[in-house]
Amino acid sequence: MSTNPLIFEHSRPGRRAAAQIPRAVDDNALADLPAHLRREGKPALPEVSEPEVVRHYTNTSAQNFAIDKQFYPLGSCTMKYNPRGANKAAMMPGFLARHPLAPERHSQGYMECMHELQDFLKEVTGMEDVSLAPMAGAQGEFSGVAMIRKYHEANGDDERSEILIPEAAHGTNPATAVMCGYKVREVPVGKDGDVDLDALKEAVGPQTAGLMMTNPSTCGVFERKIEEIAKTVHDAGGLLYYDGANLNAILGKVRPGDMGFDVIHMNLHKTFATPHGGGGPGAGPVGVSKRLQRYMPTPVVGQRDNGSFYWKDTDELPDSIGHLSAFMGNAGVLLRAYFYAMVLGREGMIRVGEYSTLAANYLSKRLQDVGCDAAYPSRRASHEFLLTFARQAKHNGVTAVDVAKRLLDYNQHAPTVYFPLLVPECFLIEPTETETKEALDRFVDAMENILKEAKDDPDLLHGAPYTQPLTRLDEVQAAKELDLAYKEEGAA
Ligand SMILES: *Cc1c(COP(=O)(O)O)cnc(C)c1O
Repeated sequence: MSTNPLIFEHSRPGRRAAAQIPRAVDDNALADLPAHLRREGKPALPEVSEPEVVRHYTNTSAQNFAIDKQFYPLGSCTMKYNPRGANKAAMMPGFLARHPLAPERHSQGYMECMHELQDFLKEVTGMEDVSLAPMAGAQGEFSGVAMIRKYHEANGDDERSEILIPEAAHGTNPATAVMCGYKVREVPVGKDGDVDLDALKEAVGPQTAGLMMTNPSTCGVFERKIEEIAKTVHDAGGLLYYDGANLNAILGKVRPGDMGFDVIHMNLHKTFATPHGGGGPGAGPVGVSKRLQRYMPTPVVGQRDNGSFYWKDTDELPDSIGHLSAFMGNAGVLLRAYFYAMVLGREGMIRVGEYSTLAANYLSKRLQDVGCDAAYPSRRASHEFLLTFARQAKHNGVTAVDVAKRLLDYNQHAPTVYFPLLVPECFLIEPTETETKEALDRFVDAMENILKEAKDDPDLLHGAPYTQPLTRLDEVQAAKELDLAYKEEGAA
């Protein structure tokens, strides 16, 4: 398979699509822009016919790996099937054409859906209140830690300068803490995947602002000492932040609010089945305990005594950390998640947790049976689990990335690799509840074959993939010298 040509390679001067972009009519329209910001020449746009545009994008999309084409067990990312019904609902003209600044009386239907979504998320997380404002998991984290900061400031508790983070954490956690002006102190994780409680007890103190945790952790196991951890941090005056990206495993089973967390973000684009990937749109609502309620990001949807809905903003919540974006959150993602929650209901949520856990444990057991090493063999998987290829790396010189690349030749998307950092040569595998047993078995067959190849012909794996538009890339160069801008041949 070769790569699709760039759309610029189809370009011929004067060629146009039928649906043309209207020309600017007023020559003075840009007169207010400073001269040095104005373009002198025409932009370098491809000139192509409409069928060429359609074919170009259709062919390009077909070269992608996607959840709509293949099994996609990317750990921590919850690449479950995105129901088409949810998409259809969000695309209803009444939703789609609503301007975010439309008057409240024109938006009652939308606001009622969002009010119900807030209530639903409160119930599944056990939190006191929910704001739908954050536009991504990382933004939810930012608003959560900003609330923790405001809480300590309001108490005149100025000495609290540190956020504790277990070493298995997602990279966004320490990044968030630093963005909010905190120092990060790492807490080690023990051999069985649980946080080292003795080390935590030593680390907490009057300097502790809070702890950020994912549970089940990114080691794919449920933190068994969570109540003791919560008590340790609370006793020291710190607050608990729950990274809810792994909510899929515990839906309908346990609630972060009941575990003692003060603030949590949810990744609706993961757990609640909205399309994501490639930096696409997300939604990272935050749930808060009573003591953080007054700091919630705005706006939130409130309901008046007469039953009508309104945007509750900083005039009513003066201690709020404020707005996180120009508008009210990512409407399209929130609507899809709302639809998903309403279709599944309470019973459905419990099934999500049960089947995602069952799929992960089935896959983990079968992969171990064909010769894979689990990172935590004594533990039951949550909705995801860790394998390590440290043994293959030592004996055959075959690394996790070699196995991952070879999987592409078997038409399987590779799992998350080299994350979390504390397990060498690892795969973090998350099958999700929407895959059939046959799909899981095909993945096991592929892995069994690859393990054989690793023994018999390690060089075959070093060169993989062979069937994709591009073969093995220089990943360091791709990351360090990323160049995505098209330049006309000969142009500087
Ligand atoms: C995905 C993820 C995040 C960040 O969420 P984004 O929406 O990508 O910003 C944070 N923590 C964990 C554990 C995640 O898997």
